[in-house]
Amino acid sequence: MTQPSSGGDVRLDRISKTYGSFTAVHPLDLHIPAGSFFALLGASGCGKTTTLRMIAGLEEPTTGTVRLAGKDVTGLPPYKRPVNTVFQSYALFPHLDIYENVAFGLRRRGITSVRKQVGEMLELVQLGDFARRRPQQLSGGQQQRVALARALINHPQVLLLDEPLGALDLKLRRQMQLELKRIQTEVGITFIHVTHDQEEAMTMADTVAVMNGGRVEQRGAPAELYENPGTTFVANFLGTSNLIEAEVTDKSGGDLVLTAPGGRLSLPADRCSAPVRTGGKLLVGVRPEKITLTHAEDADTVPEGRNRLTGRIADASFIGVSTQYAVTTPGCPELAVYEQNIERDARLVPGAEVVLHWNPAHTFGLDAAQN
Ligand code: ATP
Repeated sequence: MTQPSSGGDVRLDRISKTYGSFTAVHPLDLHIPAGSFFALLGASGCGKTTTLRMIAGLEEPTTGTVRLAGKDVTGLPPYKRPVNTVFQSYALFPHLDIYENVAFGLRRRGITSVRKQVGEMLELVQLGDFARRRPQQLSGGQQQRVALARALINHPQVLLLDEPLGALDLKLRRQMQLELKRIQTEVGITFIHVTHDQEEAMTMADTVAVMNGGRVEQRGAPAELYENPGTTFVANFLGTSNLIEAEVTDKSGGDLVLTAPGGRLSLPADRCSAPVRTGGKLLVGVRPEKITLTHAEDADTVPEGRNRLTGRIADASFIGVSTQYAVTTPGCPELAVYEQNIERDARLVPGAEVVLHWNPAHTFGLDAAQN
């Protein structure tokens, strides 16, 4: 077992970064609790690396403060902060074997008896048998584990990971995602992970902050962001969102009543992030796997209380674990529906008239004027 380390929390107060007249990160407040696995997720250029670099001390914020484990570190150089960073390029020393690569940080601090700690670290990343190999004799995934062991050996309170799995192929990436999660749970250090890959962020992180244009659009637990996105950007970035324009016809109850081309819908008021007024427009979303399709001839078998729209199958593809349908409704050229583990209804072929229906609790409402 490795020596337990305690994670530190990270508090960013109004930090921003401008380069000349360009603002890479707008004033940002973020609290990352100690011991959490936090992901900064966003498309290329949204400011996530700049944010990470300001935490590391590699970039000076234009405004604001960075606090690590309760201490203001804004003016401190990287080596005086209780953080370490793992980059996509592993930056291992090619002339040193794996053991010495991992021992490097300890030796630099003047620690001579390193055997126990290096041994434990190599066990943690499951490279105990590779100690005497050189980096170039390891696979990409193994090299990444060495980089991780090297960053963890000094027991930082916060580990920053900048697209650490970016150079790996898909299968290895998936494997390493689970591995990173296991290691984080075992060592208890706060991990802050930067990625553009939504699946990666959702697999590993307890909390995800979605960045767009230098701002955090929304933060929350992965399932919460997926099921109840607050903006169209978040809805689309985290999967297929099926956005339907609808008009509010009644807002007097706990559920809003909406009219959309092809049906009436209800939306729990607490799942709507937009201002609501009777007669106003909303974008209503539902994830593809939440929708069930019933052939129009059997429409009377659809249970009461479901949201329902009429539609026509435009395309159907059986992809092994599920059947993916594209369905045209009066208001939308194409809604996606994924149905799993069902006996395929032979009648649900392109051209078939169907009813799309789902539990209103899976509906979310967004501001139609946002984009
Ligand atoms: P990627 O995933 O591509 O690394 P990112 O979300 O991490 O993207 P950043 O590297 O944080 O994005 O960059 C944010 C914005 O700031 C980008 O538009 C980038 O071009 C700009 N930027 C970053 N560093 C500098 C710099 N030194 N000078 C000028 N502009 C910069």
